[in-house]
Amino acid sequence: MEPDLLEWFATEGLVRYSASASEDSDESEAIEVAHPPLVALGPRDEDFVLPPHPDALRYAGKRLHEMRLQDYNEFLFRWFEVALRAGDVRCANCGRVLRDEPDLPPTDTWDAIFVEKDLVAWMLVHFDCKRWLAKKLTGVQPFDLTPRKTPCYSLSTSATRH
Ligand SMILES: [Zn+2]
Repeated sequence: MEPDLLEWFATEGLVRYSASASEDSDESEAIEVAHPPLVALGPRDEDFVLPPHPDALRYAGKRLHEMRLQDYNEFLFRWFEVALRAGDVRCANCGRVLRDEPDLPPTDTWDAIFVEKDLVAWMLVHFDCKRWLAKKLTGVQPFDLTPRKTPCYSLSTSATRH
């Protein structure tokens, strides 16, 4: 992950830390490992990816250093819209592919969720699946996950600069 993005997440209080013992047994020094927030593109552990960097994607809205969490959420929703069009996003609970179309039948409507617990993550989930999500995410720890690289989408034309 880009150092400035990790630092920005840390400032927003969204980085979790775990201690892992040093390799050297003579030293009792614990190494602190930083776990940035993640984006879930589906229900499996392998579906977690690192969050995108707005500047790296030439996002037409605010630059990262101008952003508050609300701005980043807005950026991430634009990113999700592009990911949805590419057919890359599945429900974080049931795994069905989500669509971004008007007049979806009630069983297909979904919502964007931001989880801020041991795991900090953005994800999309069907309305009907929301009530199962808390149970599904119980006990999921960021240090158990190996997030994939962020898929690259072009966002330069999807928002106007404020
Ligand atoms: Zn679902």
